Amino acid sequence: MTTARAMHLVSRPEGQPKDGDFEMREAAGIPLQDGQIRVAVRYLSIDPAMRVWMTDAKSYWPPVGLGEVMRAAGIGEVIESKNEKFAVGAWVSGMTGVQSELVSDGKSLQRFDMGKLPHPGWALSVFGATGLTAYFGLTDIGKPKAGEVLVVSAAAGAVGSAAVQIGKALGMRVIGIAGGPEKCAFVKDELGADEAIDYKNESIHAALRQHCPDGIDVYFDNVGGEILDAVLRRLKLKARIVLCGGISQYNATGETRGPSNYLSLISARARMEGFVVIDYLHRAEEAIAAMTPWVAAGKLGSKLDIVEGLENFPEALRRLYTGANFGKQLVKV
Ligand code: NDP
Repeated sequence: MTTARAMHLVSRPEGQPKDGDFEMREAAGIPLQDGQIRVAVRYLSIDPAMRVWMTDAKSYWPPVGLGEVMRAAGIGEVIESKNEKFAVGAWVSGMTGVQSELVSDGKSLQRFDMGKLPHPGWALSVFGATGLTAYFGLTDIGKPKAGEVLVVSAAAGAVGSAAVQIGKALGMRVIGIAGGPEKCAFVKDELGADEAIDYKNESIHAALRQHCPDGIDVYFDNVGGEILDAVLRRLKLKARIVLCGGISQYNATGETRGPSNYLSLISARARMEGFVVIDYLHRAEEAIAAMTPWVAAGKLGSKLDIVEGLENFPEALRRLYTGANFGKQLVKV
């Protein structure tokens, strides 16, 4: 019999999530029933939206209840099977939760062939929800055209770095915004952006004026707040703003800061539209078919940032909101 460890949410965070908002509990693994599999979770995807799921507010998913295992996507190996569709040793990904073991009927899990991936973490990055978010956000909401100007915020992060590379693969002129010289060098030199703006050390307004003299066609927004406001001042006619996320606001203890420059949407006849990746999961194969040749050609890759140990989940999560993560944040269980 196995012993399973799970991280439970025990209080709703105020501001940054704290260690004390979670509690690690151990329990003997549940015996399997016919049709079930036991998955040893190997890697967890650490996502900014986790902070939103911890609040009591209405969202696209219900809040994680107090006392429940914290919600997370993950990937792991089948270690015991009473389901003929899943052999022991198969790798599967899905909503595993922040825990070492998952017992499942397998219906909501996706199988991955590890022989085809450089690292299991790619099933949670380029070939997981991160990649789908960048791909469908940019193509379906952003409606990009070759030669257009694309600006991406949190450009050195998981979704942002994929959006930059996909924008380049589609022939756009891409400007990435990231915090600090090291991340900006990565955005230009590794991801291939035409320009990078270090929003922590330069004026975002002056830099956008310099790098987008004729305006912005598509803005892929991961952060909201001041950066969204700055972009709103430089829209081209018929610009599209892809509202992917607003991480600058997720830990806010007061009111969420809305964009004050939204009236420019009127004069630019522009559109600002939100989306949630779960609405696109049924089209995953389409995205993977489009992205696989870019991966093979070296145009699309994924930088992984791995924190070791399930017990370090709270620290891994905090890294997203301080910008300590560099690439796709994972926890190795
Ligand atoms: P990232 O890997 O991009 O990590 C978060 C990054 O955000 C940090 O590294 C930091 O980068 C930046 N950041 C943190 N705080 C601020 C701030 N106050 N102002 C500006 N930048 C900040 O995370 P993901 O790629 O996983 O997620 C990116 C965004 O995409 C999030 O907003 C997330 O909620 C959203 N998302 C939306 C989905 C959807 O379906 N709509 C699905 C998945 C993600 P830096 O050091 O450069 O500041």
